[in-house]
Amino acid sequence: MVKRGAETCMKCGFCMSVCPVYLVDHVETHVARGRNMLINTWAEGLIPPIVSYKEALYFCILCGRCESVCPAKVPNVEITLEARNSLVKRRGLGLIQQIIYQLLLYKRGFLAGLLRLISHVPGLSQKDAPPLRHIADSFFLFSKPISIPKLRKPFLRERISSLKSKEQSKEIAFFPGCAFEFIYPEVGEKIFHLLRSLGLNIEYPEGLLCCGYPVYCAGDKNTAKKIALRNIKILSDYKLIITGCATCMSGLRGYKDWFEETDEYKSLAEDVSSKVMALSEFLANENFTFSSEYSGSIVTYHDPCHMKWHHAIYDEPRKVISSISRIKFIEMKDEDMCCGLGGAFGITHRNISLELQRKKIESIKETGARIVVTECPGCMLQIAEGIKRFSLPTQVLHIAELLMTG
Ligand code: SF4
Ligand code: SF4
Repeated sequence: MVKRGAETCMKCGFCMSVCPVYLVDHVETHVARGRNMLINTWAEGLIPPIVSYKEALYFCILCGRCESVCPAKVPNVEITLEARNSLVKRRGLGLIQQIIYQLLLYKRGFLAGLLRLISHVPGLSQKDAPPLRHIADSFFLFSKPISIPKLRKPFLRERISSLKSKEQSKEIAFFPGCAFEFIYPEVGEKIFHLLRSLGLNIEYPEGLLCCGYPVYCAGDKNTAKKIALRNIKILSDYKLIITGCATCMSGLRGYKDWFEETDEYKSLAEDVSSKVMALSEFLANENFTFSSEYSGSIVTYHDPCHMKWHHAIYDEPRKVISSISRIKFIEMKDEDMCCGLGGAFGITHRNISLELQRKKIESIKETGARIVVTECPGCMLQIAEGIKRFSLPTQVLHIAELLMTG
């Protein structure tokens, strides 16, 4: 249940000066002020046409930037998600969404098996072939396909299972999420090794699913809660949960709000949410210092929305980067502006997504940095694709890839 509803919006329009979507398309119903008015109208039974209502609800990238300037402290992200959930309850999900959320993301073993099968298709896990994103494009009939890395086998679970593991201590759990499991398993492995090299008893628990956040954002709260519950039961055994994915961090920390007060799992969800930390947050809090094979390079940092706007994590990655000797850090313009991916938004709202990507690449280019660091695999995909599109001599790295211990 949202604490403050859309009716608390004062219609001041401050959100219009910062909303990445509105700054591109200038459509009133695509920013919090207009959307809140529509949500109120819908709630009062003065029903706008279903198509325009649905369009307005899904034209939000859920970055949370508008909340930072809102004088009435309207929780726009929460309100939009609640409205999506109500709409899905009344109208249901499309078939493709049902397959993705209720089958693929809920049945991790099935998803892994399917991806393993797909990876045998010539090209999808080889070097010079059509990228995975084309599969998504073909579903949505888009004319501007963009590329993402191919599936990288072996997936993370196999890589980590094959490591000689320390005795199960149930001390710290590593939550990699889907992208580090299937698309960037080498980065997931790097994060795991980095934490172990710091002497931590970190484990990758068996049985974890997707964090559920993409499902929650689509409005299918019911399936998202089922996914969350499975993760909660596994993660509640641990004292600390570390993830290298900003979106997973937001999802896991949000579990506490996905369950009603009366729900028997509410307190367990609260317990799990309270133990989740982003990688850089953990490293900065513990005051670790690092060296880097990129020492001597110019580096810039892109703030994932889930770090900066959802959880106010901004200084921590900068503290970690500045602990490396001989790294020249240059802040980019609009470092905390969305890169344009926003999960499914990057597929379903391609033109806006590409324009935001263009702006991000422009900001990176102005710094002259050869390395752009971030902490979300989604942002990595979007920025890497933009770098390729604009032929920038820059490399995108997850923060763990920048760091070496000792
Ligand atoms: S800034 Fe807040 S109060 Fe003002 S219009 Fe936007 S959502 Fe409403
Ligand atoms: S959450 Fe982001 S995209 Fe959505 S209205 Fe607010 S600023 Fe715009």
